[in-house]
Amino acid sequence: MAELEGFEFGKSDFVLLDEVTMEQFLENLKLRFEKGRIYTFIGEVVVSVNPYRQMDVYGKDAIDAYRGRELYENPPHLYAVADAAYKAMKRRAKDTCIVISGESGAGKTEASKYIMQYIAAITNPSQRAEVESVKNVLLKSNCVLEAFGNAKTNRNDNSSRFGKYMDINFNFNGDPTGGHINNYLLEKSRVVQQQEGERNFHSFYQLLRGGSDELLKSLHLSKDPTDYTYTSPGASVSTSSSDDRSCHRAVMGALKVIGFSEEEVSSVYKILSTILHLGNLHFETDGESVQVVGGDSVRHISELTDTEPESVNKALLYRTVATGGGEVIEKGHSEQEASYGRDAFAKALYERLFAWIVGRINSVIEVKNYNPALHGKNTVIGVLDIYGFEIFDNNSFEQFCINYCNEKLQQLFIELILRQEQEEYHREGITWQHIDYFNNQIIVDLVEQPHKGIISILDEACLTAGKVTDTVCLDSMNHKLGQHPHYTSRKLNPTDKSMEFHRHFRIRHYAGDVTYSVEGFLDKNKDPLFQDFKRLMYNSSDPVLKEMWPDGQLSITEVTKRPLTAATLFKNSIIALVDKLACKEPYYVRCIKPNEVKSPMLFDDARCRHQVAYLGLLENVRVRRAGFAYRQPYERFLQRYKMTCEYTWPNHLMSSDREAVEAIVVQHGFEGDVAYGHTKLFVRTPRSLFTLEQERAALI
Ligand code: ADP
Ligand code: MG
Repeated sequence: MAELEGFEFGKSDFVLLDEVTMEQFLENLKLRFEKGRIYTFIGEVVVSVNPYRQMDVYGKDAIDAYRGRELYENPPHLYAVADAAYKAMKRRAKDTCIVISGESGAGKTEASKYIMQYIAAITNPSQRAEVESVKNVLLKSNCVLEAFGNAKTNRNDNSSRFGKYMDINFNFNGDPTGGHINNYLLEKSRVVQQQEGERNFHSFYQLLRGGSDELLKSLHLSKDPTDYTYTSPGASVSTSSSDDRSCHRAVMGALKVIGFSEEEVSSVYKILSTILHLGNLHFETDGESVQVVGGDSVRHISELTDTEPESVNKALLYRTVATGGGEVIEKGHSEQEASYGRDAFAKALYERLFAWIVGRINSVIEVKNYNPALHGKNTVIGVLDIYGFEIFDNNSFEQFCINYCNEKLQQLFIELILRQEQEEYHREGITWQHIDYFNNQIIVDLVEQPHKGIISILDEACLTAGKVTDTVCLDSMNHKLGQHPHYTSRKLNPTDKSMEFHRHFRIRHYAGDVTYSVEGFLDKNKDPLFQDFKRLMYNSSDPVLKEMWPDGQLSITEVTKRPLTAATLFKNSIIALVDKLACKEPYYVRCIKPNEVKSPMLFDDARCRHQVAYLGLLENVRVRRAGFAYRQPYERFLQRYKMTCEYTWPNHLMSSDREAVEAIVVQHGFEGDVAYGHTKLFVRTPRSLFTLEQERAALI
């Protein structure tokens, strides 16, 4: 609960709304946004609205104001939450996590960076060199991850195209000793194709525009992104090219600080170049056989990947298959198969490069030689910056995965918030009352349940030999899920003209209905890559490249086990993530994007309403108010309100602060509205507090 700043800036905590309605919520959010108050609490949760302008609230003064203070002592801020998480970790040796959610462009990544900077600023007062170096690597890793994992999209000029969870480890002094990054579902399709007005990943443009002449020459690259099929459409998208140049320098610097060797950096750039050259290849047929066309590209690729040109050529044009009789034959691709194979290869190269970079950063920051007996308990703060709920005009496999992830996180959110409330009541010796809320387990089951869930049905379709099409798979879903209250389709609901019979299904998510187009689902789920490419890379003489392709050592007859599908891999990683978060004390930042045009002035009611709904914020306020809306340590309460009661002003003569607080409560006649905890007063409805506030205001 925030310090009760005057209400002219709106209410600094949504629990203080007169009534919990969407209208009141929005009105308060808007008022605060317009007054430059971009942060508002719901209890301990921070709601943030992207200001789209530089705010003067992140300086050293601000950091000092929040450092070591209690949540309610200062206006709402990311720093308040960061400090609360840090204090819990340091004082109570709790592992904590900060979950940042919201849609693309809402300000999640900026928030995560401010939080990390805050933590870096308040730790290691004695400036120990090892700790400084860990902090430096942690901060620098952002720069590298953004270069390789972010892109300009229509929603956000610097949009993270992957989910990130970062653990920061602390020693018993509360100083960072290391960390670990997990990345989720990189949007690799962007490598080969971008929507109108969007770009490929920043890394490509940074290399082309920022690389030295010498470097580019050695990579056989020009300076011009329009020369490459994969970067050409985005080349003209406006971001100033000097940004790409200065970012290139910053990334090179960051890679060095993190500890990438020169060979490693060189391998990274060779892989980026290989991808660009791959994109410039295409295929032609004379009716009999298919040829690679594309000037010197094959030669460049073979040089850059340290492989033989003939092998590259062959991998592009043929696939090795084992016949039923155990015989191994080479089968030529059609033009179409060859192009498909090329793009799949380019995407896989990038995905594995990204995973390798993350792994390499982890190997530097992982805590080594930590001896709990010697150093005390090693505690963790996790920071999660992950894609929010997505509802587009056309929703595909990616949205399906992302929205499933949000269902899981929402479930955790409700569970943890409830648990946290319950634990606080327990700590304070107050009776817990049951709170009703919508449990979205049923939707989670719809997606992930073994044998019956959508992912299972998809996987089954992918495993079936022969031509199972997306439409056949949709039929199978309709058949198996027809009775599910959160699933529908045109077949099940023939009058709904907004869906097409052979294409759409709809899930009723907790956040709203989303219609998915099943087109491309199977292919994206199967995510096939010819073994020939894997083998080609494994046989490279470049040790870095080889390391990225361990599965290339299998010969075709050994490749019997089918790799896990994309949806199953994602599901497993999200379940693991939820397990990690569930055992930590959670803190939440809920980000809202005020408008679609990146304007600091505009508060788009409809857009905000939508986000408040699907972030479940009203529900959050209700849960927080269901028991006691407001709570404060006796001492603080007394300090603020002692002037409103003759027994406590200027000082009380009672034996404890608690008794003095009781005197205030009784004098104002709301005994029925409070409970006395061991250290705090709990007030059920905000109205009691308003009475006090008004009286206080009249006296000062
Ligand atoms: P998300 O990660 O949620 O997609 P970002 O954190 O990348 O969104 O924010 C998108 C853009 O919005 C940023 O590039 C920046 O211009 C602006 N922005 C976000 N948060 C802030 C902030 N606290 N102060 C100023 N600008 C911000
Ligand atoms: Mg982001």
